Amino acid sequence: MLDLTRIRADTPAASEQTFLASAGASLMPAPVIQAMHAYLDLEARLGGYQAYEREAQRLLQVYDSTARLINASPDEIAFTESATAAWQMAFYSLRLRAGDIVLTSEAEYGANYVAMLQIRQRTGIEIQCVPSDDTGAVDLTALERMITPRVKLISLTWIPTNGGLTNPAAAVGRIARAHGIPYLLDACQAVGQLPVNVEQLGCDMLSATGRKFLRGPRGTGFLYVRTSFMDRLEPHTIDHFSAPWVERDRYQLRQGARRYETWESNYVARMGLGTAIDYALDIGLDQIALRCSALATRLRQGLTAQHGITVHDLGEHPCAIVTFTIDAMPAEEVVSRAARAKIIIGASPPSGARLDAERRHLPVLVRAAPHYFNTDEEVDRLLEFCSTCL
Ligand SMILES: *Cc1c(COP(=O)(O)O)cnc(C)c1O
Repeated sequence: MLDLTRIRADTPAASEQTFLASAGASLMPAPVIQAMHAYLDLEARLGGYQAYEREAQRLLQVYDSTARLINASPDEIAFTESATAAWQMAFYSLRLRAGDIVLTSEAEYGANYVAMLQIRQRTGIEIQCVPSDDTGAVDLTALERMITPRVKLISLTWIPTNGGLTNPAAAVGRIARAHGIPYLLDACQAVGQLPVNVEQLGCDMLSATGRKFLRGPRGTGFLYVRTSFMDRLEPHTIDHFSAPWVERDRYQLRQGARRYETWESNYVARMGLGTAIDYALDIGLDQIALRCSALATRLRQGLTAQHGITVHDLGEHPCAIVTFTIDAMPAEEVVSRAARAKIIIGASPPSGARLDAERRHLPVLVRAAPHYFNTDEEVDRLLEFCSTCL
Protein backbone atom coordinates (compact mmCIF):
# COMPACT_ATOMS: atom_id res chain seq x y z
CA MET A 1 0.00 0.00 0.00
CA LEU A 2 0.97 3.51 -0.72
CA ASP A 3 1.75 5.72 2.28
CA LEU A 4 -0.46 8.64 1.39
CA THR A 5 0.19 10.48 4.66
CA ARG A 6 3.92 10.57 4.01
CA ILE A 7 3.43 11.37 0.36
CA ARG A 8 1.11 14.27 1.15
CA ALA A 9 3.56 15.52 3.78
CA ASP A 10 6.26 15.50 1.09
CA THR A 11 4.03 17.59 -1.16
CA PRO A 12 2.70 20.48 0.93
CA ALA A 13 1.44 22.29 -2.17
CA ALA A 14 -1.03 19.46 -2.73
CA SER A 15 -2.91 20.56 0.39
CA GLU A 16 -3.10 24.21 -0.60
CA GLN A 17 -5.06 23.50 -3.76
CA THR A 18 -6.66 20.65 -5.62
CA PHE A 19 -3.93 19.82 -8.08
CA LEU A 20 -5.10 17.60 -10.94
CA ALA A 21 -2.72 18.60 -13.74
CA SER A 22 0.12 16.09 -13.61
CA ALA A 23 -0.09 15.52 -17.38
CA GLY A 24 1.02 19.14 -17.84
CA ALA A 25 3.54 19.85 -15.12
CA SER A 26 3.12 18.03 -11.81
CA LEU A 27 4.10 19.09 -8.30
CA MET A 28 7.64 18.21 -7.26
CA PRO A 29 7.99 16.34 -3.96
CA ALA A 30 10.08 18.06 -1.26
CA PRO A 31 13.17 15.82 -1.68
CA VAL A 32 13.41 16.92 -5.33
CA ILE A 33 13.32 20.58 -4.39
CA GLN A 34 15.80 20.05 -1.55
CA ALA A 35 18.26 18.26 -3.83
CA MET A 36 18.11 21.12 -6.30
CA HIS A 37 18.49 23.78 -3.60
CA ALA A 38 21.46 21.95 -2.13
CA TYR A 39 23.21 21.63 -5.45
CA LEU A 40 22.52 25.24 -6.37
CA ASP A 41 24.00 26.30 -3.03
CA LEU A 42 27.04 24.20 -3.76
CA GLU A 43 27.47 25.92 -7.14
CA ALA A 44 27.07 29.28 -5.42
CA ARG A 45 29.78 28.42 -2.89
CA LEU A 46 32.26 26.53 -5.07
CA GLY A 47 31.54 27.55 -8.62
CA GLY A 48 29.97 25.22 -11.17
CA TYR A 49 33.01 23.10 -11.95
CA GLN A 50 34.03 22.44 -8.36
CA ALA A 51 30.45 21.67 -7.44
CA TYR A 52 30.37 19.09 -10.21
CA GLU A 53 33.62 17.53 -8.99
CA ARG A 54 32.17 17.24 -5.51
CA GLU A 55 28.92 15.61 -6.67
CA ALA A 56 30.12 13.77 -9.78
CA GLN A 57 29.29 10.36 -8.39
CA ARG A 58 25.76 11.29 -7.43
CA LEU A 59 25.23 12.92 -10.81
CA LEU A 60 26.46 9.83 -12.63
CA GLN A 61 24.05 7.73 -10.59
CA VAL A 62 21.19 9.51 -12.31
CA TYR A 63 21.97 7.39 -15.38
CA ASP A 64 21.63 4.27 -13.22
CA SER A 65 18.30 5.40 -11.77
CA THR A 66 16.92 6.25 -15.19
CA ALA A 67 18.09 2.94 -16.57
CA ARG A 68 16.39 1.13 -13.70
CA LEU A 69 13.18 3.08 -14.32
CA ILE A 70 12.87 1.72 -17.87
CA ASN A 71 14.88 -1.52 -17.57
CA ALA A 72 17.71 -0.29 -19.77
CA SER A 73 21.43 -0.06 -19.24
CA PRO A 74 22.94 3.26 -18.05
CA ASP A 75 24.90 3.79 -21.27
CA GLU A 76 21.66 3.66 -23.26
CA ILE A 77 20.47 6.91 -21.62
CA ALA A 78 21.07 10.52 -22.73
CA PHE A 79 19.76 13.49 -20.79
CA THR A 80 18.07 16.31 -22.66
CA GLU A 81 16.13 19.39 -21.73
CA SER A 82 12.74 17.98 -22.77
CA ALA A 83 11.03 14.98 -24.27
CA THR A 84 10.81 16.89 -27.52
CA ALA A 85 14.57 17.52 -27.61
CA ALA A 86 15.08 13.79 -27.03
CA TRP A 87 12.59 12.80 -29.71
CA GLN A 88 14.11 15.25 -32.20
CA MET A 89 17.60 13.87 -31.56
CA ALA A 90 16.41 10.40 -32.45
CA PHE A 91 14.22 11.37 -35.36
CA TYR A 92 16.56 13.78 -37.15
CA SER A 93 19.49 11.40 -36.64
CA LEU A 94 17.71 8.72 -38.68
CA ARG A 95 18.34 10.83 -41.80
CA LEU A 96 15.37 9.57 -43.74
CA ARG A 97 15.48 9.97 -47.50
CA ALA A 98 13.10 10.58 -50.38
CA GLY A 99 10.70 7.69 -50.73
CA ASP A 100 11.16 6.40 -47.19
CA ILE A 101 7.89 5.83 -45.35
CA VAL A 102 7.22 6.74 -41.73
CA LEU A 103 4.29 4.97 -40.13
CA THR A 104 2.62 6.82 -37.32
CA SER A 105 -0.78 6.77 -35.64
CA GLU A 106 -3.66 9.13 -34.99
CA ALA A 107 -2.42 9.79 -31.46
CA GLU A 108 0.88 11.29 -32.64
CA TYR A 109 1.97 14.31 -30.64
CA GLY A 110 2.05 17.71 -32.37
CA ALA A 111 5.77 18.37 -31.85
CA ASN A 112 6.64 15.03 -33.44
CA TYR A 113 4.31 15.45 -36.36
CA VAL A 114 5.57 18.88 -37.39
CA ALA A 115 9.12 17.51 -37.39
CA MET A 116 7.96 14.79 -39.77
CA LEU A 117 6.33 17.43 -41.94
CA GLN A 118 9.60 19.35 -42.07
CA ILE A 119 11.57 16.29 -43.15
CA ARG A 120 8.88 15.51 -45.71
CA GLN A 121 9.26 19.02 -47.11
CA ARG A 122 13.04 18.79 -47.09
CA THR A 123 13.57 15.32 -48.43
CA GLY A 124 10.36 13.83 -49.77
CA ILE A 125 9.63 11.14 -47.21
CA GLU A 126 6.10 9.83 -46.99
CA ILE A 127 4.08 9.97 -43.76
CA GLN A 128 1.40 7.33 -43.45
CA CYS A 129 -1.03 7.23 -40.57
CA VAL A 130 -2.10 3.80 -39.34
CA PRO A 131 -5.84 3.98 -38.66
CA SER A 132 -7.32 3.38 -35.23
CA ASP A 133 -9.40 0.35 -34.30
CA ASP A 134 -12.87 0.44 -32.73
CA THR A 135 -11.44 1.20 -29.30
CA GLY A 136 -9.45 4.17 -30.60
CA ALA A 137 -6.05 2.46 -30.29
CA VAL A 138 -3.66 1.98 -33.19
CA ASP A 139 -4.99 -0.87 -35.36
CA LEU A 140 -2.37 -3.65 -35.25
CA THR A 141 -3.77 -5.54 -38.22
CA ALA A 142 -3.72 -2.40 -40.34
CA LEU A 143 -0.16 -1.71 -39.17
CA GLU A 144 0.99 -5.16 -40.32
CA ARG A 145 -0.68 -4.62 -43.64
CA MET A 146 0.99 -1.25 -44.21
CA ILE A 147 4.52 -2.57 -43.78
CA THR A 148 6.62 -2.61 -46.93
CA PRO A 149 10.39 -2.52 -47.53
CA ARG A 150 10.08 1.26 -47.85
CA VAL A 151 8.95 1.68 -44.24
CA LYS A 152 11.99 3.04 -42.42
CA LEU A 153 10.42 4.11 -39.13
CA ILE A 154 7.47 3.34 -36.89
CA SER A 155 6.77 6.32 -34.66
CA LEU A 156 4.21 5.81 -31.91
CA THR A 157 2.90 8.00 -29.12
CA TRP A 158 2.22 5.52 -26.34
CA ILE A 159 -0.06 7.72 -24.26
CA PRO A 160 -1.26 10.78 -26.15
CA THR A 161 -1.51 14.23 -24.64
CA ASN A 162 -5.30 13.97 -24.69
CA GLY A 163 -7.94 11.31 -24.83
CA GLY A 164 -7.03 8.83 -22.08
CA LEU A 165 -5.70 6.33 -24.58
CA THR A 166 -2.92 3.85 -23.87
CA ASN A 167 -1.67 2.51 -27.19
CA PRO A 168 -0.50 -1.14 -27.35
CA ALA A 169 3.15 -0.10 -27.47
CA ALA A 170 4.58 -3.57 -26.81
CA ALA A 171 2.46 -5.18 -29.53
CA VAL A 172 3.69 -2.53 -31.97
CA GLY A 173 7.23 -3.33 -30.83
CA ARG A 174 6.77 -7.01 -31.68
CA ILE A 175 5.66 -6.06 -35.19
CA ALA A 176 8.55 -3.60 -35.62
CA ARG A 177 11.03 -6.24 -34.49
CA ALA A 178 9.60 -8.98 -36.68
CA HIS A 179 10.16 -6.72 -39.70
CA GLY A 180 13.41 -5.14 -38.54
CA ILE A 181 11.97 -1.61 -38.67
CA PRO A 182 13.32 1.10 -36.34
CA TYR A 183 10.78 1.91 -33.63
CA LEU A 184 10.69 5.30 -31.90
CA LEU A 185 8.36 5.48 -28.91
CA ASP A 186 7.11 8.72 -27.35
CA ALA A 187 6.70 7.61 -23.73
CA CYS A 188 6.31 11.11 -22.36
CA GLN A 189 3.02 10.57 -20.51
CA ALA A 190 3.76 6.95 -19.60
CA VAL A 191 7.01 7.39 -17.69
CA GLY A 192 6.16 8.01 -14.05
CA GLN A 193 2.60 6.81 -14.53
CA LEU A 194 3.17 3.18 -15.57
CA PRO A 195 5.91 0.58 -15.30
CA VAL A 196 8.10 1.00 -18.40
CA ASN A 197 10.25 -1.85 -19.65
CA VAL A 198 12.11 -1.30 -22.91
CA GLU A 199 12.71 -5.05 -23.28
CA GLN A 200 8.99 -5.73 -23.27
CA LEU A 201 8.28 -2.69 -25.42
CA GLY A 202 10.81 -3.67 -28.07
CA CYS A 203 11.49 -0.04 -28.95
CA ASP A 204 14.84 1.08 -30.37
CA MET A 205 14.46 4.64 -29.13
CA LEU A 206 12.27 6.15 -26.43
CA SER A 207 11.71 9.73 -25.29
CA ALA A 208 10.40 11.03 -21.96
CA THR A 209 10.09 14.20 -19.93
CA GLY A 210 10.82 15.01 -16.29
CA ARG A 211 8.08 17.40 -15.25
CA LYS A 212 4.92 15.38 -15.91
CA PHE A 213 4.10 12.11 -14.14
CA LEU A 214 7.72 11.76 -12.98
CA ARG A 215 7.30 14.90 -10.86
CA GLY A 216 10.74 16.22 -11.74
CA PRO A 217 11.74 19.78 -12.58
CA ARG A 218 10.96 21.59 -15.78
CA GLY A 219 13.60 21.57 -18.49
CA THR A 220 14.48 17.90 -18.09
CA GLY A 221 13.97 14.87 -20.28
CA PHE A 222 15.81 11.85 -21.55
CA LEU A 223 16.39 9.70 -24.58
CA TYR A 224 16.90 5.95 -24.59
CA VAL A 225 18.70 4.33 -27.51
CA ARG A 226 19.11 0.56 -27.59
CA THR A 227 22.76 -0.54 -27.65
CA SER A 228 22.26 -2.79 -30.66
CA PHE A 229 20.74 0.18 -32.50
CA MET A 230 23.35 2.74 -31.44
CA ASP A 231 25.54 2.50 -34.53
CA ARG A 232 22.63 2.57 -36.95
CA LEU A 233 22.44 6.35 -36.61
CA GLU A 234 24.74 9.27 -36.00
CA PRO A 235 23.63 12.28 -33.94
CA HIS A 236 22.36 14.96 -36.30
CA THR A 237 24.33 17.56 -34.37
CA ILE A 238 27.52 16.96 -32.41
CA ASP A 239 29.92 18.85 -30.19
CA HIS A 240 33.27 17.94 -28.66
CA PHE A 241 31.51 16.05 -25.85
CA SER A 242 29.26 13.89 -28.00
CA ALA A 243 32.16 13.44 -30.42
CA PRO A 244 35.60 14.19 -28.93
CA TRP A 245 38.02 15.93 -31.30
CA VAL A 246 40.75 13.30 -31.34
CA GLU A 247 42.87 14.47 -34.25
CA ARG A 248 43.05 17.70 -36.22
CA ASP A 249 40.72 16.38 -38.94
CA ARG A 250 38.82 13.74 -37.07
CA TYR A 251 36.26 13.30 -34.31
CA GLN A 252 35.22 10.10 -32.65
CA LEU A 253 31.65 9.55 -31.51
CA ARG A 254 31.34 8.93 -27.80
CA GLN A 255 30.39 5.42 -26.76
CA GLY A 256 26.75 4.94 -25.83
CA ALA A 257 23.80 7.28 -25.81
CA ARG A 258 25.77 10.14 -24.27
CA ARG A 259 26.74 10.94 -27.85
CA TYR A 260 23.34 12.67 -27.91
CA GLU A 261 24.27 15.09 -25.15
CA THR A 262 26.31 18.26 -25.30
CA TRP A 263 29.17 19.28 -23.06
CA GLU A 264 27.14 21.75 -21.02
CA SER A 265 24.04 20.92 -19.10
CA ASN A 266 21.92 22.02 -16.17
CA TYR A 267 23.16 19.94 -13.24
CA VAL A 268 20.76 21.53 -10.76
CA ALA A 269 17.93 20.18 -12.86
CA ARG A 270 19.75 16.85 -13.31
CA MET A 271 19.91 16.47 -9.53
CA GLY A 272 16.21 17.14 -9.33
CA LEU A 273 15.40 14.65 -12.06
CA GLY A 274 17.50 11.95 -10.43
CA THR A 275 15.81 12.50 -7.10
CA ALA A 276 12.36 12.44 -8.70
CA ILE A 277 13.14 9.13 -10.40
CA ASP A 278 14.42 7.62 -7.15
CA TYR A 279 11.30 8.87 -5.39
CA ALA A 280 9.05 7.17 -7.94
CA LEU A 281 11.08 3.95 -7.84
CA ASP A 282 10.89 3.97 -4.07
CA ILE A 283 7.09 4.10 -4.11
CA GLY A 284 6.99 1.56 -6.94
CA LEU A 285 5.60 2.03 -10.41
CA ASP A 286 3.10 -0.82 -9.99
CA GLN A 287 1.59 0.93 -6.98
CA ILE A 288 1.62 4.26 -8.76
CA ALA A 289 -0.12 2.82 -11.82
CA LEU A 290 -2.84 1.19 -9.72
CA ARG A 291 -3.54 4.34 -7.79
CA CYS A 292 -3.58 6.55 -10.90
CA SER A 293 -5.96 4.20 -12.58
CA ALA A 294 -8.33 4.04 -9.59
CA LEU A 295 -8.51 7.82 -9.28
CA ALA A 296 -9.03 8.29 -13.02
CA THR A 297 -11.79 5.69 -13.06
CA ARG A 298 -13.55 7.46 -10.20
CA LEU A 299 -13.30 10.76 -12.05
CA ARG A 300 -14.46 9.34 -15.38
CA GLN A 301 -17.44 7.60 -13.81
CA GLY A 302 -18.45 10.74 -11.95
CA LEU A 303 -18.22 12.85 -15.09
CA THR A 304 -20.10 10.35 -17.23
CA ALA A 305 -22.95 10.35 -14.74
CA GLN A 306 -23.55 14.09 -15.19
CA HIS A 307 -25.85 15.25 -17.98
CA GLY A 308 -24.25 17.95 -20.08
CA ILE A 309 -20.74 16.52 -19.71
CA THR A 310 -19.10 14.35 -22.36
CA VAL A 311 -15.98 12.31 -21.64
CA HIS A 312 -13.80 11.95 -24.74
CA ASP A 313 -11.43 9.19 -23.67
CA LEU A 314 -10.45 6.27 -25.86
CA GLY A 315 -9.09 2.79 -25.39
CA GLU A 316 -10.05 -0.33 -23.53
CA HIS A 317 -8.05 0.59 -20.45
CA PRO A 318 -7.91 4.37 -20.27
CA CYS A 319 -5.02 5.93 -18.35
CA ALA A 320 -4.92 8.76 -15.82
CA ILE A 321 -5.49 11.51 -18.40
CA VAL A 322 -9.18 12.35 -18.39
CA THR A 323 -10.58 14.60 -21.10
CA PHE A 324 -14.07 15.99 -21.32
CA THR A 325 -16.23 18.87 -22.44
CA ILE A 326 -19.09 20.61 -20.72
CA ASP A 327 -21.90 21.57 -23.13
CA ALA A 328 -22.65 24.85 -21.42
CA MET A 329 -19.10 26.20 -21.16
CA PRO A 330 -15.96 26.36 -23.32
CA ALA A 331 -12.98 24.43 -21.96
CA GLU A 332 -10.83 27.51 -21.32
CA GLU A 333 -13.53 29.01 -19.17
CA VAL A 334 -13.95 25.79 -17.20
CA VAL A 335 -10.20 25.78 -16.55
CA SER A 336 -9.99 29.42 -15.45
CA ARG A 337 -13.08 29.13 -13.26
CA ALA A 338 -11.66 26.00 -11.69
CA ALA A 339 -8.42 27.85 -10.97
CA ARG A 340 -10.38 30.53 -9.12
CA ALA A 341 -11.85 27.71 -7.03
CA LYS A 342 -8.28 26.49 -6.42
CA ILE A 343 -8.71 23.45 -8.62
CA ILE A 344 -5.85 23.12 -11.08
CA ILE A 345 -6.68 21.38 -14.34
CA GLY A 346 -5.70 22.05 -17.94
CA ALA A 347 -7.03 22.45 -21.45
CA SER A 348 -5.97 20.37 -24.42
CA PRO A 349 -6.26 22.07 -27.82
CA PRO A 350 -6.75 20.16 -31.09
CA SER A 351 -3.19 21.06 -32.18
CA GLY A 352 -1.72 18.75 -29.51
CA ALA A 353 -2.82 15.71 -31.52
CA ARG A 354 -4.43 17.08 -34.66
CA LEU A 355 -4.95 13.80 -36.52
CA ASP A 356 -7.11 12.48 -33.69
CA ALA A 357 -8.81 15.82 -33.00
CA GLU A 358 -9.83 16.24 -36.63
CA ARG A 359 -11.06 12.70 -37.03
CA ARG A 360 -13.24 13.03 -33.94
CA HIS A 361 -14.12 16.71 -34.53
CA LEU A 362 -12.87 17.61 -31.09
CA PRO A 363 -12.95 21.15 -29.74
CA VAL A 364 -10.54 22.27 -27.00
CA LEU A 365 -10.94 19.69 -24.23
CA VAL A 366 -10.74 20.03 -20.48
CA ARG A 367 -7.93 17.79 -19.24
CA ALA A 368 -7.65 16.51 -15.68
CA ALA A 369 -4.83 14.19 -14.69
CA PRO A 370 -4.90 12.78 -11.16
CA HIS A 371 -1.71 11.33 -9.74
CA TYR A 372 -0.99 9.00 -6.83
CA PHE A 373 -0.66 11.90 -4.38
CA ASN A 374 -4.29 12.90 -5.01
CA THR A 375 -7.18 11.73 -2.86
CA ASP A 376 -10.70 10.53 -3.64
CA GLU A 377 -11.96 13.72 -1.98
CA GLU A 378 -10.02 15.84 -4.45
CA VAL A 379 -11.53 13.97 -7.36
CA ASP A 380 -14.96 14.50 -5.83
CA ARG A 381 -14.21 18.21 -5.42
CA LEU A 382 -13.59 18.47 -9.15
CA LEU A 383 -16.80 16.57 -9.87
CA GLU A 384 -18.71 18.89 -7.57
CA PHE A 385 -17.17 21.90 -9.29
CA CYS A 386 -18.11 20.57 -12.74
CA SER A 387 -21.71 20.24 -11.63
CA THR A 388 -21.73 24.02 -11.08
CA CYS A 389 -20.72 24.61 -14.73
CA LEU A 390 -23.69 22.85 -16.30
C1 LIG B 1 4.13 16.77 -23.25
C2 LIG B 1 4.31 15.77 -24.34
C3 LIG B 1 5.46 15.75 -25.11
C4 LIG B 1 6.52 16.83 -25.02
O1 LIG B 1 7.21 16.86 -23.84
P1 LIG B 1 8.19 18.10 -23.59
O2 LIG B 1 8.98 17.73 -22.41
O3 LIG B 1 7.31 19.28 -23.39
O4 LIG B 1 9.02 18.27 -24.81
C5 LIG B 1 5.62 14.74 -26.02
N1 LIG B 1 4.68 13.81 -26.19
C6 LIG B 1 3.55 13.78 -25.48
C7 LIG B 1 2.55 12.71 -25.72
C8 LIG B 1 3.31 14.78 -24.53
O5 LIG B 1 2.17 14.78 -23.84
